[in-house]
Amino acid sequence: MIRIIDTEDYSNVISGIATSIWFQGCSARCEGCHNPELLDFSTECTLTIADAKKSIDAFADRNETVSFLGGEPLEADEFIELLLYAKAKGLTTILWTGRTKVPKIVLENLDYIKVGRYVKKKHGNFKYYGSSNQRFYQIINKKELKEVD
Ligand code: SF4
Repeated sequence: MIRIIDTEDYSNVISGIATSIWFQGCSARCEGCHNPELLDFSTECTLTIADAKKSIDAFADRNETVSFLGGEPLEADEFIELLLYAKAKGLTTILWTGRTKVPKIVLENLDYIKVGRYVKKKHGNFKYYGSSNQRFYQIINKKELKEVD
């Protein structure tokens, strides 16, 4: 099942404007999730990988960044193909995930990553995430994590 739910051209905290690819479905089900409409895996999604690639291409001249969000991108089969596609075009890539461990191929093709589930009782006013257990990193040389706050 294709679970690319939407692509969008929107403001981004890193580079001003990013092409954003949203994925439907997340099994974490954190209390107080910021995108509850994106949790259900059975929601019908009409966009294809080809559509998402077209969006990346369409905005590539002015958007240097592609953001992958959800839902949980790491639970979508289409995510890695699109990540590699964006990286091959020399774009900056950002993953917003609720997980704390990611596959090596993902880390090697990312420039930034937000990790960790949202924990309501740890909610706070942070720049890149919603609860104090979460972290936002820049990835240097494909493997070194440098915290950004
Ligand atoms: S990991 Fe993110 S998208 Fe998934 S339930 Fe938690 S807050 Fe929502």
